[in-house]
Amino acid sequence: MQYVSTRGQAPELDFEGAMLAGLARDGGLYVPDHIPTLDQDAIAAMAGRPYEEIALRIMQPFTGLAEDRLKPLIDAAYAGFGHDARAPLVQLGPNHHLLELFHGPTLAFKDFAMQLIGQLFQDAMRRRGERITIVGATSGDTGSAAMEAFRGLDNVECFILYPHGRVSDVQRRQMTTPSEANVHALAVDGDFDDCQAAVKAMFNDHAFRDRVGLTAVNSINWARVLAQVVYFFSSALSLGAPARPVRFTVPTGNFGDIFAGYIARQMGLPIERLVIATNRNDILHRTLATGEHRKDGVSPTISPSMDIQVSSNFERALFMAYGRDGAAVSQLMDELRDAGGFPVSQGALEALREIYGSGRCSEDETAATIRAMHARTGEVLCPHTAVGVKVAEEHLGDSRTPMITLATAHPAKFPDAVEAATGGRPALPDRMADLFDRDERLTRIDNDVAAIEALIEDRLK
Ligand SMILES: *Cc1c(COP(=O)(O)O)cnc(C)c1O
Repeated sequence: MQYVSTRGQAPELDFEGAMLAGLARDGGLYVPDHIPTLDQDAIAAMAGRPYEEIALRIMQPFTGLAEDRLKPLIDAAYAGFGHDARAPLVQLGPNHHLLELFHGPTLAFKDFAMQLIGQLFQDAMRRRGERITIVGATSGDTGSAAMEAFRGLDNVECFILYPHGRVSDVQRRQMTTPSEANVHALAVDGDFDDCQAAVKAMFNDHAFRDRVGLTAVNSINWARVLAQVVYFFSSALSLGAPARPVRFTVPTGNFGDIFAGYIARQMGLPIERLVIATNRNDILHRTLATGEHRKDGVSPTISPSMDIQVSSNFERALFMAYGRDGAAVSQLMDELRDAGGFPVSQGALEALREIYGSGRCSEDETAATIRAMHARTGEVLCPHTAVGVKVAEEHLGDSRTPMITLATAHPAKFPDAVEAATGGRPALPDRMADLFDRDERLTRIDNDVAAIEALIEDRLK
């Protein structure tokens, strides 16, 4: 299978090429040139099978990798999860289910993609006999997921920049306690924007970039989206798909997770609706409601992983809604950059509304939902998940189609917000209860690109 850019001007690449490139050279995002479909019998045949087996069936056609090469990578990716089902379902109400995506090593759904990407990168580099250096900036979650995914792998060195003193204790310890020599936590004296700017500057320093083999694993990487398609299938199968259709509500920021649901739907999974749940940073909800896609500043919330101004993967949804017209998407993205927004064409808006619903949840409503769900069901939700649950409840209606809300993080990752809502402090799962006893290893560094580059080159010697 080949991959094309959403802006239509970059060369087509195969799966490995698109994965290693991340962003396309025309600034676009890679999407498959066609979406393979599974018939009802093929979908039904996966019911009741282990997560890894479903993952192999779903992902193999997109990767072009032989089954016997892909299977061990999938097995290794999910072996460290703390639940046999990998992505178990629990019931919240008569027709409402929660898909727990927080049983991975860093307790958030990003582990599903990162753990697999680590294995895929290592495999590609081994075969090519090359080494790469992953550099990323994090405000918390993505960096810890990357450290966990790459620690101990061959041919991959991983450096994560985070703002010193500005990530939570759990997030910091998840980055500073892995003992493997190939992962490096760099505490930058600055804020998250400084870290991001430093990473950008390193990518623009072409001599440095080539010397160290610099690569990114940010949320627009196609391989990350692909890994997330699997749990839409596994959960729907558990509730009777393909005979019985389902709906999903997805707490959304950069649109990577919910776009994976779209791919599942295009493959033939009977998904009646994909509901976008936003916090008060509601650019996507406004787009669906008004047809105008317009930036509006970021305001910090208790669901910080959804605090976005630009939702990068939404470009993929636009590409599909505009009938794969790369020139049209390219023009919209220019307008977004130059004028802060654009109107979605009537045809594209109708195409989006046919698939996606949307809703927003305020800060007060987020806290109230955590409190109410705890009282009604005993379930403790993280604030991101609570945004999803609130919006899902508004969409339940009289329909008998099951609603599945994605639980994107474990409540213990956001203990302050949860304690403020319920009065109880959520505990870490047993398997990481010793997180606060482990030794930390980090390097404090000035917010100075030359110093950071020198440190990276020194560590690579
Ligand atoms: C990243 C993240 C999200 C948003 O997911 P997108 O794919 O960016 O839409 C939601 N919740 C949590 C906990 C996250 O870490």
